[in-house]
Amino acid sequence: MPLTSDQQEKIRNHLTTYLEFNKCPICGGNKWIIEGELSVLQLFDSQYKMIIEGKVAPVAVVTCEQCYYCLTFNAIKLGLL
Ligand SMILES: [Zn+2]
Repeated sequence: MPLTSDQQEKIRNHLTTYLEFNKCPICGGNKWIIEGELSVLQLFDSQYKMIIEGKVAPVAVVTCEQCYYCLTFNAIKLGLL
């Protein structure tokens, strides 16, 4: 499901609040792409086997327009879900 404009604004505000001068930590660029949908981080069990079903961590992904470095933010903690 595509992110709403309110969800995108929350992400943008969070980025501005916590990323010094809005700069990418890799290349110093300051243009960010808020990906249009949430993603999930796949979790592993205690034997490092991938869990196919069950718990996942939903994240918002923000990509540096210059070097493609990706930042991920916990979508639940950010209040997006
Ligand atoms: Zn960058």
